[in-house]
Amino acid sequence: MNISFLRGGFLFIIKLQIGGRRSVHAPASGVKPERKVPPQKEPADPMWKRYLFPESLQEAVQALGEAHGRALPVAGGTDLLLEIQQGHRPPVDTLLDVTRIPELNRLERQGNALFIGAAIPVGRIAASEPVNRFATALAEACGQIGGPQVRNVATLGGNVAHALPAADGMIALVALGAEAWVASPDGVRQVPLLSLFRGPGVSALDLTHEILVGFSLPVVEQGAGSAFARVMRPQGVALPILNMAVWLRREGNVVAEVRLTAGPSGSTPRRAEKIEEFLQGKTPLEEGVLSACKALLPQCFAFRTSPARATAEYRYHLSEVLLEKVLLTAWKRAEECV
Ligand SMILES: Cc1cc2nc3c(=O)[nH]c(=O)nc-3n(C[C@H](O)[C@H](O)[C@H](O)COP(=O)(O)OP(=O)(O)OC[C@H]3O[C@@H](n4cnc5c(N)ncnc54)[C@H](O)[C@@H]3O)c2cc1C
Repeated sequence: MNISFLRGGFLFIIKLQIGGRRSVHAPASGVKPERKVPPQKEPADPMWKRYLFPESLQEAVQALGEAHGRALPVAGGTDLLLEIQQGHRPPVDTLLDVTRIPELNRLERQGNALFIGAAIPVGRIAASEPVNRFATALAEACGQIGGPQVRNVATLGGNVAHALPAADGMIALVALGAEAWVASPDGVRQVPLLSLFRGPGVSALDLTHEILVGFSLPVVEQGAGSAFARVMRPQGVALPILNMAVWLRREGNVVAEVRLTAGPSGSTPRRAEKIEEFLQGKTPLEEGVLSACKALLPQCFAFRTSPARATAEYRYHLSEVLLEKVLLTAWKRAEECV
């Protein structure tokens, strides 16, 4: 299937919608206005003037710098174009399409790490053999984002850079202990994933000067397993009511290492450190361990009531269900991975 065609098609459809919205001021045909209406001021044009396809990282960073804060990176456009259309972003002159930069399209084993380029569509990540093997939680999360059309163009880099605390791919990356590679005019640096978030929808990245290159995940060959699960509204296609991801490594019959996270569980993503500490050296199947973990959930996560999705009480209830599901699944997968 020609993915670049679908990508172009998605952008085209959104642009058409933006154009369509603009025409709402036009009078319906056949209806004569009773009196002359003074001409209305057109709203500021939110559309970009230039759409660039840099072919290298250096070219991309340079183009951002030359735009003096009036350019933004774009990948699948599934978040950004809607935000521009709805006026949630200051207008930009230039969109910099990062999908043709080679480094952002690599998905490969690099020593003891798996590197996943920021511009790889989540549908490709969900189908990737090494991701399913070493980062099962990420394959599960990416496979549930949107529908097939969205998954064909939406990227993991966009999912992280948008900085929403419940983004599915991002939550899985946190549990998998991912580090991010960031390119700026000063070069490329590697940073912990959790350092990229300032608030809901607010990235610590300066998107007018920095580009996410990709993510490195530690590869553990034996005794490790991970799992992701989420609950959506039945008709929902966007963000979940609650999602959760876990990665763990077992030594014999006990947990040796574990990372657990859930979203949205605060203004920025966070790990359930109290549960992680409690689980060290224990088996989740031992009587009382799961219920003790569940009792610690309110100390780890600050679930909120959101009018469009769920009450805090409902989310706490769901978190117990999801915790049991992901923990026992990852535990079993770790046993099989020997
Ligand atoms: C119908 C629909 C359903 C959806 N369902 C889900 C869902 O179930 N789960 C979920 O988590 N999300 C969902 N989303 C949200 C969205 O698809 C994802 O967040 C997606 O991964 C964003 O990636 P993108 O490539 O489209 O980002 P874009 O829209 O291109 O960009 C998003 C932001 O990231 C920045 N950006 C993009 N790439 C880079 C880069 N390499 N470096 C720096 N900045 C960058 C852009 O400047 C922008 O600020 C849905 C969206 C739609 C429209």
